[in-house]
Amino acid sequence: MAASAVIGAATLTMPAGGRAFAGEHANAKAEDHSAVPSRQIAIVIDDFGNSMKGTEQMLELPVHLTAAVMPFLPTTKQDAEAAHAKGHDVIVHLPMEPVRGNANWLGPNAILTSLPDDEIRRRVEAAIADVPYAIGMNNHMGSKATVDERVMRIVLQVCKEKGLFFLDSRTAWRSVVPKVAKELQVPLIRNDVFLDDVYTAHHVSHQLTVLKEHLAKQDSCVVIGHVGPPGLITYGALKSAIPQLRKDASFVGLTELLPLPSGVSVHYRQ
Ligand SMILES: [Zn+2]
Repeated sequence: MAASAVIGAATLTMPAGGRAFAGEHANAKAEDHSAVPSRQIAIVIDDFGNSMKGTEQMLELPVHLTAAVMPFLPTTKQDAEAAHAKGHDVIVHLPMEPVRGNANWLGPNAILTSLPDDEIRRRVEAAIADVPYAIGMNNHMGSKATVDERVMRIVLQVCKEKGLFFLDSRTAWRSVVPKVAKELQVPLIRNDVFLDDVYTAHHVSHQLTVLKEHLAKQDSCVVIGHVGPPGLITYGALKSAIPQLRKDASFVGLTELLPLPSGVSVHYRQ
């Protein structure tokens, strides 16, 4: 499920709060790379907002990250502000109903398919308002909600109104997100590799190999890791791998991988 026609909009910035990140470029200069690597890696770390394991360490990684912060939790604001202060991007990690799973994992004010339209809209707007500096959104869980066209139409409509892009974490094969995002012209990015869906160092290092394989075939790769149970394992693996990865790729924010603005030429990844 690779393939992307998207990329190539490396200088694109989002109208709503998108900004160039100085740190990565500064680091690249410090290492005196003679040529800017042509490949791009966007690392997204999910589940910030609740003092989860690895929170501080992840934010210290010496590359441009995107911190996906859950709303309405004890350290939501603190984590978003810390990420922003370190030059990382912040997105809303919106809790959405899964097909299976413990309701306690969802977090407060989750998007449930049983909710009426106006309550879904109210929760999405409140979630965006609760996470400072958010420039985009992705789903926490959501294998049930992301296949529900009524629900996703409201979620993506609010993203559009607020100028946010959407990262489809692809927790469901039948996600309607690509279809609805295209209709509404909400900039869409998709996850390529989950780094730590199994909480072992062996698995995470294997997934980093998958990342390299992706980069051999396409110009960019979006990877998702997590703070929480695998947090320190994922942090350690990334920290070790970054110097090598940097030889062939630069670490970018998701906005650099967005399709061109609507009306110009919109390409959605297959
Ligand atoms: Zn999550």
